[in-house]
Amino acid sequence: MEVVTTVQEMRQAVARARAAGARIGFVPTMGALHEGHGALVDASVAECDVTVVSIFVNPLQFGPAEDFHKYPRDLEADKAFCQARGVDFIFAPSEKEMYPEPPRAFVEVEELTAGLCGAFRPGHFRGVTTVVTKLFHIVMPDVAYFGQKDYQQLAVIRRMVDDLNFPVEIRGVPTVREADGLAMSSRNRYLNPEERRAATALYRGLTAAKALLEQGERNADRVRQRVREELAKEPLVREQYVEVVDADDLSQVSYIDGRVAVAVAAFVGTTRLIDNIVFDPSAERTE
Ligand code: AMP
Repeated sequence: MEVVTTVQEMRQAVARARAAGARIGFVPTMGALHEGHGALVDASVAECDVTVVSIFVNPLQFGPAEDFHKYPRDLEADKAFCQARGVDFIFAPSEKEMYPEPPRAFVEVEELTAGLCGAFRPGHFRGVTTVVTKLFHIVMPDVAYFGQKDYQQLAVIRRMVDDLNFPVEIRGVPTVREADGLAMSSRNRYLNPEERRAATALYRGLTAAKALLEQGERNADRVRQRVREELAKEPLVREQYVEVVDADDLSQVSYIDGRVAVAVAAFVGTTRLIDNIVFDPSAERTE
């Protein structure tokens, strides 16, 4: 495994691999890697000849009051993690390497970014789509892997790639959870033991919603209410939103007659966590 820090070296390394006929898999991350990232890496290593993992805490996607400066960074642990899983290249550029000048060009996906997290994190998705565009142009992968855990992000990237004809296949990977159901996240390490226990309320809420849906409930408000009840039981948890949205275009749904995502965001103490499930009434299956 090689750790590459410049755009030029990364381009050269990928060009050599491609010239040798390799199919390139790419996993963009912000580091502090955990088993959720691991599932993306494993999928890439299984399906591609060469796997590139980027580790870059992207300042463009953090709001001024958000956790950019305290976001966990541990490149040494991340290197060992990637090496053990068969990664070929880590791309870990500095901020200066990615943004030598203050950027003046951005990529923006409309409408899908208006609701859910987009409503509470202005500019966040513009930061994500801009950095993912840059990374795609640097790595030029055949396939790129994103977690279903960040459901809106996955939908927004898919739409960007479709609308703008990016020559890359996007693969969504199911959410990896702790034994008690908490979705794995680099931000979970902010939680103290009491908050860590309370944080399971998000999954409990979604599990209750899933049970309702599987019993045949199709009224989105009643499903949302059921999630809210679970969040409200935990004094350390403060709901930001609970929404039922169309699984593809993320528009709000009132009667559930197609594939939907039930998505939740909540603060646990000062840590903001998100989670979701996807329900397909025709398949009666919940992911
Ligand atoms: P991040 O480092 O948080 O930006 O995440 C990098 C990628 O890993 C994104 O595509 C995330 O959706 C994905 N990811 C993060 N946590 C999980 C998880 N628990 N299960 C599956 N994918 C995840």
